[in-house]
Amino acid sequence: MSKERLIYLDNNATTPTDPRVVDAMLPFFHEIPGNAASRNHPFGWKAEEAVDYAREQIANLLSVDSKEIIFTSGATESDNLAIKGVFEMYARKGNHIITLKTEHKAVLDACKKVEKLGGQVTYLDVNREGLVDLKELESAITDKTILVSVMWANNETGVIQPMKEIGEICAKHGVLFMSDATQAVGKIPVNPKETGVHLMAFTGHKMYGPKGVGALFVNRKNPRVKVTAQMDGGGHERGMRSGTLNVPGIVGLGKAAEIASKEMHSDNERLSKLRDKLEKALMENLEEVYINGSVKHRMPHVTNLSFKHVEGEGLMMTFNQNIAVSSGSACTSASLEPSYVLIALGLGDDLAHSSIRFSLGRFTKEEDVDYAIDALTNGVTHMRNLSPIWEMYKEGVDLEAVEWSEH
Ligand SMILES: *Cc1c(COP(=O)(O)O)cnc(C)c1O
Repeated sequence: MSKERLIYLDNNATTPTDPRVVDAMLPFFHEIPGNAASRNHPFGWKAEEAVDYAREQIANLLSVDSKEIIFTSGATESDNLAIKGVFEMYARKGNHIITLKTEHKAVLDACKKVEKLGGQVTYLDVNREGLVDLKELESAITDKTILVSVMWANNETGVIQPMKEIGEICAKHGVLFMSDATQAVGKIPVNPKETGVHLMAFTGHKMYGPKGVGALFVNRKNPRVKVTAQMDGGGHERGMRSGTLNVPGIVGLGKAAEIASKEMHSDNERLSKLRDKLEKALMENLEEVYINGSVKHRMPHVTNLSFKHVEGEGLMMTFNQNIAVSSGSACTSASLEPSYVLIALGLGDDLAHSSIRFSLGRFTKEEDVDYAIDALTNGVTHMRNLSPIWEMYKEGVDLEAVEWSEH
């Protein structure tokens, strides 16, 4: 196989924009240049009409009212708007927020900011499967709690939280429920009303739409939820998010939502088969491969695997030029840090460092998966053949008992 071949299995980092989305967007760059807020000429009307249409397409996907969709620049902004916006808006009711240790940085760092501003945040543990304990969540609620923020599906493991049960707990205690649903919207059925979710963040570029555009769903009735704007200006988006609307981006997000409503089921049927094929083949070809996170409550296109005694970053280098995946290590300024998500699942540093996330997508072909199976099998075998630790392990040396010298 040629080196030129590039295989993209990193769809949880970003998805390729669907060509049908690109086509829908193109006229709004040049032919229809209007500002959706220009109410006094046809250019503005056309832009506004296109934005309204996109709002409907998105509302249809989620079974919500189009007035409940607030456009933003992406999920990071939506998470910030929801968390800081609720903290400010509901300050008289309380100052306590509950979230999970496995949330995306956009949620965790917004929570850290809230703490600096005098708020209190509880970061709940998850179990080995990556799931929240509902009893623990309920007992963390106090009379000062204003918000529970739980992601719908995890970006690293694909683990899906028990959203409906959490919604019921929040409703019982009269607490707002927010979800970073970035990895779920457009991929699996997501219905915030049925689930009791009052605020929900998502983004275009994780659902085959463009980058730099996202939205926040804000429940309008029973309860009527409001967030304090984090961006001051022209009072766009019902006063919750000022700034000229990204018309081509919004048109693209709308189109992506429409395609998702029609195709997510057939996409998932195909992708879950491919994901299972990949997982099964690697576990058959290689020893000591572990699946990270719940196998039952999981997105159909994701698998996160640890290859024991193989360092993930090093493994990626054996095929880096050909296959795009993610490892369970994050580069910080000084060193490689193991993924905090995998650590929260109870993995040791070594298994976290030896993990690889494969995320398939609408444009993944079966031959891509076949190629990845070969490349990974060869890469892991190669690295283990070179590894003294693997050799010791094979010889039956108890590695836990070995005292390693500091270096
Ligand atoms: C990608 C991602 C984000 C950030 O989205 P942007 O649109 O890139 O800001 C937030 N949360 C989750 C779970 C994500 O996967």
